[in-house]
Formats: sequence, C-alpha cells, structure tokens
Amino acid sequence: ETQKETLGFQTEVKQLLHLMIHSLYSNKEIFLRELISNASDAVDKLRFEALAKPELLEGGDELRIRLSFDAEANTITLDDNGIGMSREETIAHLGTIAKSGTADFLKNLSGDQKKDSHLIGQFGVGFYSAFIVAERVEVFTRRAGLPASEGVHWASKGEGEFEIATLDKPERGTRIVLHLKKDESEFANGWRLRNVVKKYSDHIALPIELPKEHLGKEEDKPAEPEWETINRASALWTRPRTEVTDEQYKEFYKHVSHDFDDPLTWSHNKVEGKLEYTSLLYVPNRAPFDLYHREAPKGLKLYVQRVFIMDQADEFLPLYLRFIKGVVDSNDLSLNVSREILQKDPVIDSMKSALTKRVLDMLEKLAKNDPEQYKNFWKAFGQVLKEGPAEDFANKEKIAGLLRFASTAGEGGEQSVALADYVSRFKEGQDKIYYLTGESYDQVKNSPHLEVFRKKGIEVLLLTDRIDEWLMSHLSEFDGKQFVDVARGDLDLGNLDSEEDKKAQEEVAKEKEGLVERLKSALGDEVAEVRVSHRLTDSPAILAIGQQDLGLQMRQILEASGQ
Ligand code: ADP
Ligand code: MG
Repeated sequence: ETQKETLGFQTEVKQLLHLMIHSLYSNKEIFLRELISNASDAVDKLRFEALAKPELLEGGDELRIRLSFDAEANTITLDDNGIGMSREETIAHLGTIAKSGTADFLKNLSGDQKKDSHLIGQFGVGFYSAFIVAERVEVFTRRAGLPASEGVHWASKGEGEFEIATLDKPERGTRIVLHLKKDESEFANGWRLRNVVKKYSDHIALPIELPKEHLGKEEDKPAEPEWETINRASALWTRPRTEVTDEQYKEFYKHVSHDFDDPLTWSHNKVEGKLEYTSLLYVPNRAPFDLYHREAPKGLKLYVQRVFIMDQADEFLPLYLRFIKGVVDSNDLSLNVSREILQKDPVIDSMKSALTKRVLDMLEKLAKNDPEQYKNFWKAFGQVLKEGPAEDFANKEKIAGLLRFASTAGEGGEQSVALADYVSRFKEGQDKIYYLTGESYDQVKNSPHLEVFRKKGIEVLLLTDRIDEWLMSHLSEFDGKQFVDVARGDLDLGNLDSEEDKKAQEEVAKEKEGLVERLKSALGDEVAEVRVSHRLTDSPAILAIGQQDLGLQMRQILEASGQ
C-alpha cells in the first residue's frame, strides 16, 4: 500500500453514524439490503457507461454480486464487479453526505426525534449502516477504466476518521469486508444471509450469489467455491403485477427511493400501443426534509429497454408531483438519450401527461378507498399539491378534487373537507363555494366576515396556508360552481337572501346614507369606498378588500420581498 492517509469524516457523517447505530439497531439486518442496493446501482452505472465505452467491461465477466462469509474470522464480504470508485470518489462518497441541508436538519432534531429511525432513514445513510453490525469496515475498490495500480483501500471503525491508501486491485469493482462485532456473529452464517437476501433483495435485477453449501466430506470440498444465485435476478417492473407481492413492491421502493419507510401506495403499469413503456410509481409515506429545497433530488429512475440510463429524470412529472418516486422504462427512447434530448423530445411530453394522469388517478383511488391513509398523504404533501392548479392547467379540476380544506363545518382547523363534500352540503339556493383566507385558523374562525354565513348556516372554507391565495387565484370554479372570497367587496349572496331580506336591506341602506357620507369624508383617501353591509350580525363595521385587489397574504408576500 502507498499514499496512506488518515482523514476525518464530515461533521454530519459523525453525527449521523452516532444516531444511526442507536436508532436503527432494532432493524439491523437492513445493512445488507443497503450494501446490495449500492452494488446494484454500481452495476447499473457500469452498464450505462459501457454503452459509450465498451472497453470498461474489461473482457466481460457476468455482472453479479457475490456474498460470502468466514465464521472463524467473523467477517462478511460483498463483492461486486460494478463501476467501482477512484480515490477521490471514495473520499467523497464514503466520507461525506452530499445532501444539502443535512447539517441544519440534524441540528434541529429534538431528543425524541433523534431516536426516530424514520427521520434518520431519509438520508440515504445506506453505506454507513454497515457500522450497525461491524466494528470495522474495509473497502477495496477500483474504478472501471483505471489501471489495476489505482485500486483504493478504505478502512474505518466508524468513529470519526477513516484511512485511505492506494493498492493494486486487478478486478474492477468494489469489495466490502465487514469485521462483525462480537455479538453480531449470527450474520457470518450462510442460512442467515440467504434469508436476509431473500427477504429484502429478491427484487434486485442482478444475480446475488452465495457459495454453494458443501454437504459432502470436508476433504472433498473444492478449493474454489462454487457459486449459486439465490434471488430471482429479473427487473421487478418487467414482471406481471400478479407475480409481485406487496412485500416485494415495498422493498423495491426502498431500493429506488433510498427511503427506509414503506411507501403509502403505488401504481404499476405497462403501456402498449403508439408508445411503449412501463412505469412503477410510488407515493412516499413522509415528506423528505428537503421537499422545498431547490436542489433536492426529484424525478424518476429512467431505464431504456431495461438498461439503466439515469437517476432523477425530472422531465416525466410536473414539479407539483416532485415527491413521487419510481421507475420508468421506455422502449421508444434511444439508449444514448441525454438530458438535453429529454427536454426536447415530444415523446417525453406525451409520457409526461400520461404519467401525471396516472399519479392523479392513484391519489383519487387512495382518497376513495383509504381516507385514513389519504389524510397522511395530505399532511405530508398537500401543500405541494396546492401548487398544481397554477402549474397544470389541463388537470385543474382533477387536482381541485384532491384538495382538502379546513371549514366552518369542521373542528380545530383540520384540512379534511373535499370540495365535493362541500358541494354536497350546499344549502337550498346556494350555487357558490365560499371561502375566507387568513393567517391562522384561530384568526379566521372568529372573523366578522363569517357572521352572516353562520346565521344562514352556510359552510365557509377557511384557508390559512401561505400558498392559499396563490392557489385561489388559479382556481375559479369547481364542478361548475364559482369560488367566492367572502372578504371581498360587495358580497352578493344571490338566491340565499329572500325577497324580504332584500327589501329590508334596501331600506336600511337608504336610512344610513347620511352616516355613509360622514364616514367617507372622515376617512378620505384611507379607503376606496364606504358601503352599508348586510353581512354582519354582531360587529358594527368591517374592512373588506376590493373585488380586483390583491389579497392580504399576497400583499404581505410582495411587501416582504420588497415590492
Ligand atoms: P446512496 O446509495 O443513497 O447514494 P449510500 O450511503 O448508500 O448512499 O452510498 C453513498 C455513495 O457511495 C453512493 O452514492 C455511491 O456513489 C458510492 N458507493 C457505495 N457503494 C458502492 C459500490 N459498491 N460501488 C460503487 N460506488 C459505491
Ligand atoms: Mg445506497
């Protein structure tokens, strides 16, 4: 070994290693799933790069992952012949966390949250999970295309620093040796490994090989182990739906999303005809901490005829569905498709609108069949879905149907009312959907604007999220019913006021003409207009916004941004 160095982990890695070992301990066997997932990604990357540079295959042994163990030495070894890593890549990938915002996120975790494996899991802590069971981890790797002399040896106890050196590695790819902790020796066992692989990694498209059990006499044991493949080794999305179990769908989700949680739901479809592609789309259970970070990873894993092409292909779904994870495998794109081509190809546009429909249908189905789970979905991603009507004109109505709001009919401001529910509760003569926007539920629930509605028993939607006015500026109707902001201008309650009501209102208006004149001259330029209102029952006066004016939220946003 030459050029030996000892380097420190990035601070975030140190924090995460510490948290992870404690929070994921109860589910420690997942380390194997993570390492196999990485090996499979590495082989995908090699296949892709070899499309342009076949020499990277270096003669071309079968691509596979080999898993072996040594009970005496208490070690497990994973060996892949994928893309491998250079020295710089090893330092970057196995010493830092690339996800931006990680440091802030970790800093803000409370004591309880620190023990929450769901929160820790969202970092793609993948490789580092080896330290849950290993007291020392060694990595031997060489990047495809580099000479044998540029192999890399990385070793660490997971305590703050790692060693790195250069060594000869004739075979391309990565070998990881886990020196198991004393009380984790159960993993240095063929039967145990087989079970874990079957449970978590059966969906991996690459052969996962273990040494064949040798049943004969010890002295007949062959010098070189024979290998046998223990997984199905076919791409999961190419199988018919009836042949994939829910467990397999869930494990596949964890592999593509780098999430540790189960997904909420999924949709697997094969499309034939003018366009041919297969998609497998998942709705996650939780929002990632960086849902609103501009650089946060988003998009689908793109395959062309089962060859991996790229991660994070974000051309296939609109921004407001950026939380969807999954795979799309096309037969119409060429293998040398690039991001530039994706952005221009009209095939992508048709796929995008079809996939968008699929996602919206999947959400509709979830809302209908499992309202409890839909609540979870809404909590995690409702705010993002509200971006939809502005971005996706064609699907406005469909998206509107998926929205959920707080309303005067509900308790405590929970966003649980669908527009269809609201419409089904229309009062005799009602033909509009009434809403009020404001800063918080507590502020709007007692607003004088609601008095007349309370009196008449009419439900009003209460919109208090930052994005709500923006949303409503792009939604004018649902199911043919117009939206009306009850805080605006002269509220026309149309058919809801009886003839007597209207007559009485006219009389009151005449009576108060003098008062209106006096108020107008007293307030001068401060207001645009003074009017007699019929919408108050308890309060003497109210400030209303003009029909065409910006709403208060929008004004505040613009003022805050200095406009
Ligand atoms: P993630 O898989 O979410 O990127 P991991 O912690 O699992 O995060 O892995 C970190 C990175 O280390 C990977 O993105 C990859 O670049 C590199 N890596 C890990 N294992 C391998 C491997 N077997 N071959 C090549 N690169 C690897
Ligand atoms: Mg990983």
